[in-house]
This record gives sequence, structure tokens and C-alpha cells, in this order.
Amino acid sequence: MRWMLPLLISVTTMSAYDFHLMPKKVTSGVHCFFGEPEAMNTTNNGNMVNTCYLDTSKGYVVIDSGSSYAYAQSAYNEMKKIKPLPIALVINTHVHDDHWLGNGFFAQMGVKVLGSDDFAHNARIDSPTRIQTHISPEAYAQTVPTLPSEMIDSDTNLTIGDQKLEFHIMKKKAHSDKDMVVYVPKLKALFAGDLVFNDRVPSLRDGDINGWISALDELKGYGATTIVGGHGVRSDDKAMELTYNYLTQMRSEIRSALDEGLSIDEAINKITMPSFKSLRMMDSLHRGNVEAAYRMLEWEQK
Ligand SMILES: [Zn+2]
Repeated sequence: MRWMLPLLISVTTMSAYDFHLMPKKVTSGVHCFFGEPEAMNTTNNGNMVNTCYLDTSKGYVVIDSGSSYAYAQSAYNEMKKIKPLPIALVINTHVHDDHWLGNGFFAQMGVKVLGSDDFAHNARIDSPTRIQTHISPEAYAQTVPTLPSEMIDSDTNLTIGDQKLEFHIMKKKAHSDKDMVVYVPKLKALFAGDLVFNDRVPSLRDGDINGWISALDELKGYGATTIVGGHGVRSDDKAMELTYNYLTQMRSEIRSALDEGLSIDEAINKITMPSFKSLRMMDSLHRGNVEAAYRMLEWEQK
């Protein structure tokens, strides 16, 4: 049966889905892949999330592995063209599956994957996965949901090559139950995961508006000059502003609505926040965000 092996390998290679990913340099030694500002669908096939590569001289640290095996493979293939480094470590910022279903590609190479212990409680590995139900079978091929091999429950520092990395776990529920960010002090670079959105409306469905605003207040104190969020291409020192302004305006309008005694339906209809009208995904996410935030904030009144 030995003769079959080359045939199988060539078939596998040919069928691998190519995302045509383009790395963009955001600061010295850091390249990111910026996904489309939209939900996952059979056109973007899961290329709607950001992932980044940090060159530590000893290897790349990958921040979020993306939405599938093929996505992770495509990204790594592009990075090897820039500099053929091995992967030193993969980080998962939080449990939403568009950020970590690429783990299997790296785990297969024996790479350690680090995430918070929230993965032990809240990572969904149902079959089919959420991503799997929204993208094409070709793009999802070979994806095996693979949880982090190491989970941490408190802030941790790690030096890899010539970079010190700080892993900060948010103290309260924010975008998710436990969001982790990566800060690289030498570069003043912050990888904020889904605590930061740009070019589209943030998703509050799984989060807590007060905890999220507190988390952003904490992150502002780092003094980062490069900030990359989980979605959206903006990566300068102002990259947190859209999410911060959206959430603080929403909280203040909901508190006013509660003071006026508006019901949840009245509040959802009233709080349209027209200054954000042109933002992508406003139609699909905004009303749900107001509803989720109202349900959290009404407890402050009781
Ligand atoms: Zn998320």
C-alpha cells in the first residue's frame, strides 16, 4: 500500500482551503491578519476575526489562532514567507470559537497553547461548532476543537526570546466571563482580544457592560501606543475609543431610561444611538446589545 501515500498527500494539499490572507505590519516585529467587519458566513468563511504574530527572535507568539485549521495554516504559511520562524506559543484571548478553532493546527506541531481557565468552564465544543454551521465544509476541513494545553487563573509574565509578555486576566466579566489580554511592554503593544472592536458594533450578548467599561479603564492605564482588538483594523493608541464611546453612551442612555421608568421594549426603541448608525452590524447587533445591557443595569435600580 506504500504507493498510495504520495497520492493521498497531494489530494490533501490540493483540497486545503486557501484564505488568501495578507499579514499587515502594525509595529516592529508584529504582523496581524485583520478579518472582515461582519459575522462569519460562507463568503468570508471565518476570516472575520483578527490574529497576530509577534516575532520574539526565538519564534512567533501567535495571539488567537483564528476560526479553523485552514485559517491557521494559511496565516502561518504567509508568516513563513516574511520570516521562517517556528511557533513558540499560541495565546487564546477568550472562549468565543472564532478566536481559537485554529488551535488544532498548532497543537499538531506540538506547540503549547495558553488560555485562561475559563476554557475549562465556558468553551463550547459542541458538534457542530458555531463556526462550523456558518462556513463552508472546505474552509472547516481538518478543524478539531482543541482547548488550550495550559490554563491560567491569574496574571502571569513570560519571557520568550527578546520579549517579555504580560498576560492580564480581567477581574470581572466584561466581553466574556474571563477576558485575557497580552501586553508587550518593550513595544507598548496591547493585544486586547474582543475587549476592543473597530469598524463594527461590539457584541455584548455574552458580557457585562459595567465590567467591560471597567476593563477598558484599566487597559487605558497601560499607556499602549499600538492596540489591536479582536475585530477591526484600527491599531493605534486610539483604537479603544469606538468600543469605549459606544458602551459608555449606551450605559448612560439606559440609566436615563430606567430613571424615567421606561420598559425594556420602550428603551430598545428609544436608544437608537444614531451617531453610530453607519457602523457595520448596527442592524444585527445593536438592539440585542441594548436589551442585554438593560437587563444588567436594571438591577442597579432594585
Ligand atoms: Zn468574542
